[in-house]
This record gives sequence, C-alpha cells and structure tokens, in this order.
Amino acid sequence: SETPVPLRIAVVGGGIGGLAAALSIARAGHHVTLVERAARFGEIGAGLQLAPNASQALEELGVLDAVQRTAVAPPRLVMMDALSGDQVTSLDLRSPAYTERFSHPYLVTHRTDLHAALLAACQEHPAITLRTGHTVTHAEQDDSAVHLHFAETATELTADAVVAADGLHSRLRQALVGDGEPVCSRYVAFRGALPADRMTGRMSQHAASDAVMVWAGPRMHLVQYPVRRGELYNQVAVFESDHYTPDSDAWGTEAELEERFAGTCQAVRDALPLIARDRRWPLFDRLPVDNWVHGRIALLGDAAHPMLQYLAQGACQALEDAVALGGALGRFTDPADAFTAYADQRRERAALIQTNARRFGEICHLEGMGATLRNLLFASREPEDFDDVSWVWTPFPASVPIP
Ligand code: FAD
Repeated sequence: SETPVPLRIAVVGGGIGGLAAALSIARAGHHVTLVERAARFGEIGAGLQLAPNASQALEELGVLDAVQRTAVAPPRLVMMDALSGDQVTSLDLRSPAYTERFSHPYLVTHRTDLHAALLAACQEHPAITLRTGHTVTHAEQDDSAVHLHFAETATELTADAVVAADGLHSRLRQALVGDGEPVCSRYVAFRGALPADRMTGRMSQHAASDAVMVWAGPRMHLVQYPVRRGELYNQVAVFESDHYTPDSDAWGTEAELEERFAGTCQAVRDALPLIARDRRWPLFDRLPVDNWVHGRIALLGDAAHPMLQYLAQGACQALEDAVALGGALGRFTDPADAFTAYADQRRERAALIQTNARRFGEICHLEGMGATLRNLLFASREPEDFDDVSWVWTPFPASVPIP
C-alpha cells in the first residue's frame, strides 16, 4: 500500500468521539484541527460503562493507562428485578471465562475523567490544534477540499477532509443524510454521580460490592455503579413517560419519576431520593443508515449511529469508529478512499448494535408475564457464560484491502 502524505483533517465536535478521532488521525500521521462549539471542553457529571471493545480502542489510542488511573473495574454485572428485589442474572467479570474470551478490561468511569484523558492526549500531540467557541453552520466541498463555516466568525476553515463528530443532533448529518429528526423513545433519564459515602442502608451493600447493578422493572430501570476510584457512585434512573408530547419539555417529569418508581422494592426506593434531579435527558436514537460518507466528509459517533443506551455502547462504538478511521487514514492517500474503507469496516457492526440496543431495552422493561418469562429464562444462565454479549464486546477485525 502507498505511504500516505500528511492530510489536513478537520474534526467537528469535541465530545468523546471527536477527541478520540482527532487522536487517532494524528497518530496516523496527519494534521488535525478540532472545532467545538462550547466555550470550554467538557462532559457531563455522570458515569459511562466501557466494555472490553472500548478499553481495547483506548489502548490502541494510547490512553488506556490514563483512563485506568481513575476508572473502576467492576467484578460483576448484575441484573435485579426492580419489583421483587431478587437477582435475575449476572456476568462474572473476574472469571477465567472472561479473561479467556476478552483481552481487555470492563471498566466504569466518570465521563469527565475519560474526556479529560482524551483531551490531555490531544493537547500533548503536536499535530492537533484545538479550538473552542467554533460552531459549524455548514460545510461546502469541492474536488480537493472542504470549507467549514462558523457562527462566531467569518473566517472559514479549509481542510482536505472533515470528520463530523457533532453528536445526536449533528448539523452536518442533517445536511448530508436528510433522515429528519432523531427518534424520541418517550423514555427519559435522570442521572448523576454523588459522593459514595452518601449511599446508606441497603444501597450501601450494593455500592460496596463495586458491581454494576441494573434494576429492571416495568417500563423503567435503575443503573448503579461506582466511578472515580470508588469515590463517586453513579445512578441513572430511566422510565417511559405516559405524557410524551413532541416539541415540549413538560413530560418525563420528576413527579412521574416518583410515581413510576413507587412500586419498586425497598432497595430501589432507598436509592430514589439520591438520584440527581437537576437535569433530565430524553432518550433518542435513529434507524441505521448506510451513507456515513459524503465525498470528503465522514460521520462518526452519535452523528453516524445514535443509539439507545441499553447496551451501554454509544461511546464504545464512537471509540471503535475512531480507531477504524485512524487505521484507514494510515492506509490510503485519498481521504475519500480512507473514509469509504472506514465506513465499510464499521457500518454493519454499528447498525447491529443500534438495532439490538432497542431490543435489549424492551427486554429490560418487560412487565407482567413477559417479565416472569424473562426472569425464568435468565435464571438458567451461568455468570461465566458470555455467549450473549461477546459479539457486542468484540470489535469486528479491520479488513485491510489493498488500495
Ligand atoms: P457528543 O458527546 O454529543 O459530542 C458532540 C460534540 O459536538 C459536543 O461537544 C457538542 O458541543 C459538539 N457540537 C455539536 N454541534 C456542533 C457544531 N455545529 N459545531 C461544533 N461543535 C458542535 N455510551 C457508552 O458507551 N456507555 C454507557 O454506559 C453509556 N451510557 C449512556 C447513558 C445515557 C443516559 C445516555 C443518554 C447515553 C449513554 N451512552 C453510553 C452513549 C454516549 O453518551 C454517547 O454515545 C457518546 O457520548 C457520543 O459521543 P459523541 O462524541 O459522538 O457525541
């Protein structure tokens, strides 16, 4: 294959996907300018699960050690019945079966910690320029370049190619793919991390176990796990609203949260007052699309494949995207060829995970007989059995076509 000459690549969006992409592209030998609309780089104050496919990607980006300095490696993933308080099933992340199957750790981290590790690596890389306060309004491309226009300045940015990592409501995707607005699931999340010593009563036992706890109930669930060396405890309460109204924020309220969780077991009710209430996140996804690449512009992360969070894979998939993109830009001289190879490697897998995330949400949120049958079915699973998840936790191998 040819030795690529350094390209000038612009990355739009400084979330986990954009920073990881910038790092990966720079490590492949190119120059990167990353533009972020916010005045400061940052992430929200909540947790993130990183399955082994993500920790493998972080290793390939050279930041796994930095992330592991603060991340927690939970011993188990546990699904509980939120109504009865009984255990439904679990996965033993310390078992020989785990290490035989997966070469990398399962981690849980504070988003800020992961974002900071990626940001520091970008700041240290001489080929990366970072710019905040730059909101892309539109992109124009011709045969040899892409021109980005910004809301804040008349000065445009010209690059050989552009990576759109501008998230769920991606403006660039909107212009290129034209599949309308993201799909609202009518579910909403309340989430945040609090000092671990605030977990008292029954909840403190679960918190002390360091496990990832998923309390599944009718059209609702609660996820809990420690982050930042165990100093903080992350809680995410999710439920379906009966009052969804498009173009309104008056649904999925705190009062509905209380109401929906009222019938849960004591352990979940103990946790309820400690769930962050200051912000709520309506949950969106999209149906998979094939067209991630438009000439010299490629989509990445949530801009390419926004998914519901039920498999905890959105950021993991963005990290896989970043590694695949860097790999492709290391193999091809023409950015359009590299983008095509990147999308060919990633499209099918991301689509499968997008589709299955919806399905797993439905399994979590079953009620009545459906929930009884789920619990019965899962009861026969062994904690060392990773057959159901290994395809999610193992990236597709890179196909290396000869250019
Ligand atoms: P974003 O994080 O949305 O970043 C986009 C960036 O682009 C932002 O910084 C934004 O300011 C910037 N931007 C936007 N528009 C412009 C513009 N026009 N010009 C310039 N900049 C712009 N994933 C996991 O892997 N594990 C989990 O456990 C997990 N849990 C989740 C729980 C919940 C409740 C939710 C909602 C999601 C969860 N996810 C999880 C998904 C994960 O958060 C996302 O998939 C991931 O953060 C997407 O990263 P991104 O960089 O693609 O997009």
